[in-house]
Amino acid sequence: MPPSSIVWFRDDLRLADNPALRAALDRDEPVIGLYVLDEESDGIRPLGGASRWWLHHSLASLDARLRERGGSLVLRRGRAGRVVREAVADAGATAVFWNRRYGGAEREVDADLKGALRVEGVEAASFAASVLFEPWTVKTGAGTHFSVFTPFWRACLALPAPRAPLPEPREIPGARSAIASDRLADWGLLPHDPDWAGGLRERWEPGEPAARRRLREFLRDDLDGYDRARDEPAAGATSLMSPRLRWGEVSPHTIWHEAVEAGGGGRFLSELGWREFAWHTLFHAPDLATKNLRPEFDAFPWPHLRPSHLTSWQQGRTGIALVDAGMRELWQTGYMHNRVRMVTASFLIKNLLIDWRRGEQWFWDTLVDADVANNPFNWQWVAGSGADAAPYFRIFNPELQAQKFDPRGEYIAHWAPEYRDDASAAPPEPIVDLGETRRAALDAYEQVKRAS
Ligand code: FAD
Repeated sequence: MPPSSIVWFRDDLRLADNPALRAALDRDEPVIGLYVLDEESDGIRPLGGASRWWLHHSLASLDARLRERGGSLVLRRGRAGRVVREAVADAGATAVFWNRRYGGAEREVDADLKGALRVEGVEAASFAASVLFEPWTVKTGAGTHFSVFTPFWRACLALPAPRAPLPEPREIPGARSAIASDRLADWGLLPHDPDWAGGLRERWEPGEPAARRRLREFLRDDLDGYDRARDEPAAGATSLMSPRLRWGEVSPHTIWHEAVEAGGGGRFLSELGWREFAWHTLFHAPDLATKNLRPEFDAFPWPHLRPSHLTSWQQGRTGIALVDAGMRELWQTGYMHNRVRMVTASFLIKNLLIDWRRGEQWFWDTLVDADVANNPFNWQWVAGSGADAAPYFRIFNPELQAQKFDPRGEYIAHWAPEYRDDASAAPPEPIVDLGETRRAALDAYEQVKRAS
């Protein structure tokens, strides 16, 4: 078999600005794209339902784009360490390239594989593609990781600017004889019986071309007003780049450079900075989804779980308008506006007194943008147990939040119409009293303070 290179696609389902793909093309050998559905390696978190839906469509799009240019995408499932080496053997490949991941379990898989491939005489190389600044390049004066965002972002901005994005390759020479591939449809990533994905289909078009279109549209129409309108869930003023970044359909470098060219966007760029901060935090605290970053929070006396409260929250039936609207937006579309994510998370943790990990798990299953850094990072931020977190005692009042950020009630009217002023029936009763539960949360927090 003539030599070929494998590009192992993971969270980078794109052709443009893909350094691993570029490295393979630079070898002037046939290129085989590979995606491995790994639900077996230790510590790799199985994808949630909404993520599986997105992945299916994004892989279909990537496959079509590779084919248009002469390449192909091979699909296999199992432990990545074993599966990639099998694909190398089947193809007689002499090199494997991938873009780096920063979660603890993922790094372990990748490091072991790199070692094994090299022992077998196969070239293996990895590249930076999903963050603007790699975690080990941003350090405090004392050489440690930043625990506060503002100095972290200042330090990032003092580094050389993120590299310019690489152009999209026009041709991708494929291998003459194909190696065996699973059929995407056989992976069962799409829901059926019931098919709950109607709202996702209506809201989203996964894949690189749609991601690039949406970026252009946002920069043209909304970047100017972003600072002002980004906190209003009814305004539709944010970029909706989060699932595209999650799946790597567009790189942060592309977003960065196009936003700068479009006229700046300091506030928008600093939101990308929060994403960087979350990934860096995960790199230094691989147990972010399960362990309080601030250990004194281990003393928090979570009361015995009331399952009916958790279900009411998940289904958007809490009797609190903004919370219910947000939870239904999430369930129907796989997305929720950031302001409402903060309010619904705060309500779960500080009014229902339910452990943040329960909420994180629900978001993990239902968000199309759920990732191993940003989701737990933000949940810990709201809980007060995380990096540069909102202090625990700052408890959002969901009614005041609604008055401030949804002053005309448009968002609530859309997602939870029973709360409209002109609704025919009285609105549902709250499942808890906001004032009483707030006091109970503050009492419980006293124990954390005593432990610190
Ligand atoms: P924009 O306002 O257009 O922001 C641009 C980009 O900046 C986003 O796409 C995102 O990559 C980044 N960004 C913005 N806000 C944040 C933030 N607070 N933290 C980290 N990055 C940010 N974001 C995820 O990508 N995945 C998650 O799993 C996730 N879980 C969250 C859970 C909770 C409880 C909370 C409060 C927030 C969570 N976020 C998560 C952050 C944020 O809500 C989303 O990134 C944002 O709503 C995405 O919409 P957008 O792309 O239109 O954002």
